[in-house]
Amino acid sequence: MKLDATDLRYITSEEFRVLTAVEMGSKNHEVVPTPLVVQISALRNGGVNKNLGSLAKRNLVAKVQNARYDGYRLTYGGYDYLAMRALSKRDTMYSVGNQIGVGKESDIYIVANHEGEEMVLKLHRLGRVSFRSVKEKRDYMGKRKSASWMYMSRLAAQKEYAFMKVLYEHGFPVPRPVDQARHTILMEFIDAYPLRQVSDVASPGALYSTLMDLIVRFAHAGLIHGDYNEFNILIRRETGEPVVIDFPQMVSTSHANAEFYFNRDVECIRRFFRRRFNYESKLYPRFKSTMKEGGEQEGPGFRLDVVVAASGFKKSDQKVLEEYMEAVKETEGGDEDEDDSEDDGDDDEEEEMEEEESDDDGAADGEAQTVAGDNGALARHHPGPA
Ligand code: ADP
Ligand code: MG
Repeated sequence: MKLDATDLRYITSEEFRVLTAVEMGSKNHEVVPTPLVVQISALRNGGVNKNLGSLAKRNLVAKVQNARYDGYRLTYGGYDYLAMRALSKRDTMYSVGNQIGVGKESDIYIVANHEGEEMVLKLHRLGRVSFRSVKEKRDYMGKRKSASWMYMSRLAAQKEYAFMKVLYEHGFPVPRPVDQARHTILMEFIDAYPLRQVSDVASPGALYSTLMDLIVRFAHAGLIHGDYNEFNILIRRETGEPVVIDFPQMVSTSHANAEFYFNRDVECIRRFFRRRFNYESKLYPRFKSTMKEGGEQEGPGFRLDVVVAASGFKKSDQKVLEEYMEAVKETEGGDEDEDDSEDDGDDDEEEEMEEEESDDDGAADGEAQTVAGDNGALARHHPGPA
């Protein structure tokens, strides 16, 4: 989907207040009743309705009529707008360029700051896939009303940022994190190809060892990437050096399933090198011996999982996110086989929660990608020659 910052040349301060009120109301309402928006925004009734109308026209909120009451919900576009506005207010980001990636659970854009320096904006989109079926499978979602796509996406961004920061500060080859707001992170742009697109390397053996050494280095620092594959390893165009990205699923080496995740990361690399480069080595790291040899050598200060836990990304948030991600995995696994057959029928009560729909509405307008900065100033980023 397009980054729906379209037509945001100007947003009035009242519109902004109403938009923020819808966001606040969403924390405990799937559909925010209009009277609640009135109450939170502390504006006149008529004013709120008018502003809601104009926000809805721009797809920043969507009107929802459900069985019990009418109201509004924040769309992806509205949430994107709020995040980008926050970044631009802080002057970390000024303009938006082209979309360079559509992940299953993220959108990636090239953006720039005032100086024209290019960066990458990653917008997390948890819940784009199978949110409903996840909800059906796990009742913790029911108890926790706020466990919405907004909440999960924000947790994913916070977690990714926390890990990226700690890894970067400890000299791991990851992009430099720049800023984080709501469900987005801003980071250094790496001039690179995903390993997936690389068909020829000077020495597959050397790259293979570098990548395995990195897994070991992660583990010695108490961490497992958890999704260490050819999509999440970038190869720098200039030097051929690998850069690792995509951290929302990182786990600690003291996680109950640490060995499973570790082996899976190792196996991903082995399989890829076998298939792509016809390269196979008897040497590859094993979890137990890696943990034995590493462990203490760097001293107790070097448990990055502990550092992250102390850095503000709470264990409880980590757990919520992890449960969600596991549930998605299960659901997807099921979908691939024959899960769909029973899926219809009997669970219509939560019908109002259809996140997909806002996408289609929002994607219609050309390619104007703009961010309203201070006073609604408009910026459009034209990426320089690649
Ligand atoms: P997802 O969680 O959707 O897999 P990723 O973080 O893996 O998202 O990013 C998706 C794609 O976007 C990557 O495969 C890569 O091509 C591109 N990308 C992401 N971050 C950067 C970056 N910092 N610099 C350059 N390209 C990036
Ligand atoms: Mg990825």
